[in-house]
Amino acid sequence: MTSLETLQQLPFVSPNEPLARHTTIKVGGAAKIWVEPQNEVQLAEFLRLNAKLNVPLFVLGAGSNIVPSDAGFEGAILHLGKGFESSRVEENQLVAGGAAYLPRLTKFALENRLGNFEWACGVPGSVGGSVWGNAGARGWNGANFESRDSAADFAGAIAFDRSGNRVELGRNDVQFAYRKSSLGDLIVVEARFSLLPISEEEAKKRKEIVRELLERRRATQPANAASAGCVWKNPKVEGCAGAGALIEQLGLKGKTVGGAQVSEIHGNFVINAGGASAGDIRALVAQIEAEVREKTGIELEREARFLE
Ligand SMILES: Cc1cc2nc3c(=O)[nH]c(=O)nc-3n(C[C@H](O)[C@H](O)[C@H](O)COP(=O)(O)OP(=O)(O)OC[C@H]3O[C@@H](n4cnc5c(N)ncnc54)[C@H](O)[C@@H]3O)c2cc1C
Repeated sequence: MTSLETLQQLPFVSPNEPLARHTTIKVGGAAKIWVEPQNEVQLAEFLRLNAKLNVPLFVLGAGSNIVPSDAGFEGAILHLGKGFESSRVEENQLVAGGAAYLPRLTKFALENRLGNFEWACGVPGSVGGSVWGNAGARGWNGANFESRDSAADFAGAIAFDRSGNRVELGRNDVQFAYRKSSLGDLIVVEARFSLLPISEEEAKKRKEIVRELLERRRATQPANAASAGCVWKNPKVEGCAGAGALIEQLGLKGKTVGGAQVSEIHGNFVINAGGASAGDIRALVAQIEAEVREKTGIELEREARFLE
């Protein structure tokens, strides 16, 4: 029996799952093996078996920062199932499963009179992916709108290593920087965030702020188009207002390759305008990078992950 056939014996494993179905940019061929455990026992069972078989493994959350390839993935895609979506409140902490969806968590936190998670209302990712990549956005922070990220409130996590060992991580066991963390190969199955206890009245006010944040997002980002979010990190170059602004200044908004297009609304988003292949997206991204390099000398660094 081949390694792939051995993995398929597990009841939560299935073959040939199209990645276009599981990514917000809606492109990509099939994963040879799709692994969707519903609890930690199943996850550990798969990881232990796979550590022996050595099948290439990629962890996919909500697929909102990933561009797969048209050839799919010659290995196993691990996607935490619904069993990892639950959330609860423990004192001032929001404790959420690795597959919990951030916009839903923002609502849940406010319903439980916990504030400061509003920044996440429009980030269409899972807790695991968002802690791994230190997702962040503008949000309400006590008295002001300012940028917050996963690291701001992170209080610890439960993760598994690739051999199936369960690891408990405290606040200081994980280092965060702009859109990255030190989590590496660890798979986050639960994370906790220390939030701000607020009154019923304050929660109401913040629900209104969430509505405003979402409205602002819809006006400034292609929120309804298929995309993988921001393709590039904002370059740390004096005078550069961000990757999106740079692309706009160079007149590259609206540029297309096949069904891929640089969003007319925000230059840092490459959208699947209809029928794009992963190859179209990649070709357009490469063209933008080359043009930015040639005209400004700036080397754009990717925020979205391109899966080979
Ligand atoms: C319309 C739109 C708006 C967006 N706005 C923002 C924004 O404002 N701010 C922002 O930061 N991002 C934004 N994004 C990008 C994206 O939503 C975030 O990066 C999000 O945190 C990715 O989470 P995910 O679950 O989708 O991860 P995926 O895209 O599935 O994966 C991203 C990375 O996380 C890893 N990963 C996934 N799950 C786990 C896990 N359980 N354990 C360990 N590693 C894991 C993957 O291996 C991969 O390397 C936006 C995207 C879209 C489409």
